Amino acid sequence: MRPFDYVAPNTVDEAVAILAENGPGARLLAGGTDYVVDLKHSSKAPKIVVDISRISEFSRIEMTDQGLRIGSGVTHTEIMDSALIAKHAPAMQEAALTIGAVQTRNLGTLGGNLVTCVPSLDSGPVLIALDAAVTIAGPQGKRTMTLADFFVGPRKTALEPAELLTDIVIPKAMLGRGCSFRKFGLRNGQALALVNVAASINLEKAKLSDVRIALGAVAPTVIRAIKAENLLNGKAPSDDLFTEAAEMAATEAKPINDFRASASYRLDLIRAGAKRVLAEALERAQA
Ligand SMILES: Cc1cc2nc3c(=O)[nH]c(=O)nc-3n(C[C@H](O)[C@H](O)[C@H](O)COP(=O)(O)OP(=O)(O)OC[C@H]3O[C@@H](n4cnc5c(N)ncnc54)[C@H](O)[C@@H]3O)c2cc1C
Repeated sequence: MRPFDYVAPNTVDEAVAILAENGPGARLLAGGTDYVVDLKHSSKAPKIVVDISRISEFSRIEMTDQGLRIGSGVTHTEIMDSALIAKHAPAMQEAALTIGAVQTRNLGTLGGNLVTCVPSLDSGPVLIALDAAVTIAGPQGKRTMTLADFFVGPRKTALEPAELLTDIVIPKAMLGRGCSFRKFGLRNGQALALVNVAASINLEKAKLSDVRIALGAVAPTVIRAIKAENLLNGKAPSDDLFTEAAEMAATEAKPINDFRASASYRLDLIRAGAKRVLAEALERAQA
C-alpha cells in the first residue's frame, strides 16, 4: 500500500471542508470493507483518506417528522439489531442479514453500500421499494433526492465533488407497509447476488395499490419493474395475478451472462423471486 495522509473529522462540516480543500485526491472511508480492498490493490494512492466513522450523527437511527432516518454510518449489524427498524421496516433487516459475513456486517455501513453503487448491492432494493430518500452534504449545504435518482449507473452516484451521503430517510407513509426481500446467490452465505428483489404493497379496500417492485443485479443499477407494478395496481391480489406480474417483471430486466450465471437463469430467478416477495409482502400487508 502506498503512503497517504489520514484524518478523522468529528463533524459533517469538517469533513466537507477537508474534501473541498483536497479535491479529487481526498477519499472517504467509512467501514472500509470495500475501500481498504481498493486501497491495497490500487496503483494510485489517495492524497488523503478522510475517515468519517467518528461523525456521531452518521450512526443515529431515529424517527423524525419526515420518517425513519438512518445515518449513513449505521452498520449492517446495527440495522439488524435496531428495534425501530424491526418495527417499521423489517425487510431492511432481511437484506442486511444477507450481506457478507458477520465481520463485514459489523464494519460495513449502509452509506458505504449505497455509494459503491454496484448493481448487486443488497441494501438497494428494499429502500427503493420503500421510496427512500437520501440527504447529501456538500460545500453548498444539504440537498435531498430519492434513492432512485441517487443511483446513476454502475459505480456512479449523483454525488458531486466534495459531497458526502449523510442519511437515508424512509418516508412516514411507507413505514409499516407489507414489504419483503429475497436474494439469490451461488450459495446461501457470503455470496454476491445473482438477483435480489424486493416488493412493497399497500392495500386499499382489499385491492392492491402503490405496489413497488425493485430488482437488483439485473440492470446497471437497481430498477423498478414499473409494468408489473401497473399490472397489479387496482386489482384484487391472487396467485395467478402474482405469477403474471412476476413474468412481466422479468421482461423489464436486462440481466447479463457471466461466469456466475446465465442471463436466462437470472430471468428464472426474477420470476421466482418476484412472485415470492409479492406473496410475502401481501401477507404482511394483511397482517
Ligand atoms: C468479504 C466481503 C463480502 C461482501 N458481501 C457483500 C454482500 O453480500 N452484499 C453487498 O451488498 N455488499 C457486500 N460487500 C461490500 C461491502 O461490504 C458493502 O458494500 C459495505 O456496506 C460497504 O460499506 P463500508 O462502510 O465498508 O464502505 P467503505 O469501504 O468505507 O466505502 C465504500 C465506498 O463508499 C464511499 N463512502 C463510504 N461512505 C460514504 C458516505 N457517507 N458518503 C460518500 N461516500 C462514502 C467510500 O469513499 C468508498 O468509495 C462485501 C464486501 C466484502 C469485503
